[in-house]
Amino acid sequence: MTDFAATKALFSLPEGMIYLDGNSLGPLPRAAGARVAQCMQDEWGEMLITAWNRAGWMDQPARLGDRIGRLIGAGPGQVVLGDTLSIKVYQALAAALDLRPDRKVVLSDTGNFPSDLYMAQGLLGSLDRGHSLRCVPPEEIEAALTEEVAVLMLTQVDYRTGRMHDMDVLTEKAHSVGALVIWDLAHSAGALPIDLGGAGADFAVGCTYKFLNSGPGGPAFIYVAPALADAARPALSGWLGHAEPFAFDPDYRPAPAIARMRVGTPPILQMAALDASLDIWDQVDMQALRARSIALSEAFIAGVEARCPQLQLASPRDPHRRGAQVSFRFDEGYAAMQALIAAGVVGDFRAPDIMRFGITPLYTDMDDIEQAVERLADVMDKRLWDNPKFRTRAGVT
Ligand SMILES: *Cc1c(COP(=O)(O)O)cnc(C)c1O
Repeated sequence: MTDFAATKALFSLPEGMIYLDGNSLGPLPRAAGARVAQCMQDEWGEMLITAWNRAGWMDQPARLGDRIGRLIGAGPGQVVLGDTLSIKVYQALAAALDLRPDRKVVLSDTGNFPSDLYMAQGLLGSLDRGHSLRCVPPEEIEAALTEEVAVLMLTQVDYRTGRMHDMDVLTEKAHSVGALVIWDLAHSAGALPIDLGGAGADFAVGCTYKFLNSGPGGPAFIYVAPALADAARPALSGWLGHAEPFAFDPDYRPAPAIARMRVGTPPILQMAALDASLDIWDQVDMQALRARSIALSEAFIAGVEARCPQLQLASPRDPHRRGAQVSFRFDEGYAAMQALIAAGVVGDFRAPDIMRFGITPLYTDMDDIEQAVERLADVMDKRLWDNPKFRTRAGVT
């Protein structure tokens, strides 16, 4: 069993703040500051260029990838870190389309995160081979899986509502019509147990700065199924994905397996922060995490529905059909969230009317949930949101 009181003590959270936004930016692990400082001073400062070998910098994207692999049902050597999630989406989609050259449709859902759709639009435009991106409502995906589909590209957990696709069912259905599947785990990795190998997923991508707490700008990860890893053509053929980067061969030859999905120089300082965060994750049992996250989410929903009749649940009511976030609709959701943040409970807002709360057992306990409900009820009862200062939209919502 995981001791969640012990994991909570490993995070640095401002006194009095209840942080329900770890689905957007995870908090600072207490050990991360010293780890990054050590990497800067002892490695960068003292070893300089030799640290690529002596401090193991060059292998860090694979080493940390293996540790993330345990959390998502991937074996050693199947996950590598680097770049941002948008870039990893592009790489996965380019490789998948290449493996289905006779098909022209990329299928996704209308709830997908815009950057994933934008990257697909950009890639299809550059390919200029008559592909189209077809987006249907999430509940119509299964019916839309036809033999025209080259690639099914989905985000497992919807960033607005927390609605979760059934990875096993949709992967199997996609394979039955000959399509490949890319799962975006942005709101799944570190939020729930995932079994990419068991589901037979072809590609998966995700970020580390949300539930995995690597800090702003932390590198993304990519998984390629072992059966495809040596066949997948890397569209972003950077030197660190080359079979022999230090041969400085003018012609590209992909490295074996997942290493070919590396592109350029990895973010070493950011990976030092991720390394500290993964020390916490190494102790976490994902089934226990899921059970705790459901218990906390159910309590939050029950409390908010009892105390805030103005808010409407936007997430699926069945906990097994949602990820680790709970969302409510409210016309003045932006102002209400600003008022709630001013009261020390941090969630976020997604247009047009969604108030979003990440429920993360690693550092959120039942007292926090009760306090959050209390303060939200106060914001609603006293109409604290009805104040011009809470209506001015900042650049980042
Ligand atoms: C957070 C998120 C992104 C962000 O991509 P970056 O390139 O890391 O900024 C992309 N896709 C999904 C589904 C996300 O939730």
